[in-house]
Amino acid sequence: MPFQRFAAHKPARVRKGVYQCGDHGSVASIDTALASGDAAAEAVLEDLT
Ligand SMILES: Cc1cc2nc3c(=O)[nH]c(=O)nc-3n(C[C@H](O)[C@H](O)[C@H](O)COP(=O)(O)OP(=O)(O)OC[C@H]3O[C@@H](n4cnc5c(N)ncnc54)[C@H](O)[C@@H]3O)c2cc1C
Repeated sequence: MPFQRFAAHKPARVRKGVYQCGDHGSVASIDTALASGDAAAEAVLEDLT
């Protein structure tokens, strides 16, 4: 992977009922994509409970 400046993750919850995930929210990598998907799932679960 080329060097990428660190970028903090964008929040998973845009607003209640609207969530985002993917590498566009931070540096481009599979790890970022997976972590942001996990964060989005956690946000959905929090809002459902
Ligand atoms: C050539 C290359 C090599 C790479 N090598 C590595 C590596 O070695 N290690 C590593 O960690 N990362 C690597 N990456 C980066 C990694 O692939 C990405 O960071 C990761 O796949 C991002 O996952 P994502 O789910 O956020 O986005 P994506 O994998 O891009 O998935 C987004 C999906 O959304 C779909 N989509 C887009 N617009 C719409 C729409 N309007 N409606 C419906 N669907 C839509 C697209 O078709 C796509 O399937 C590489 C990237 C490239 C391009």
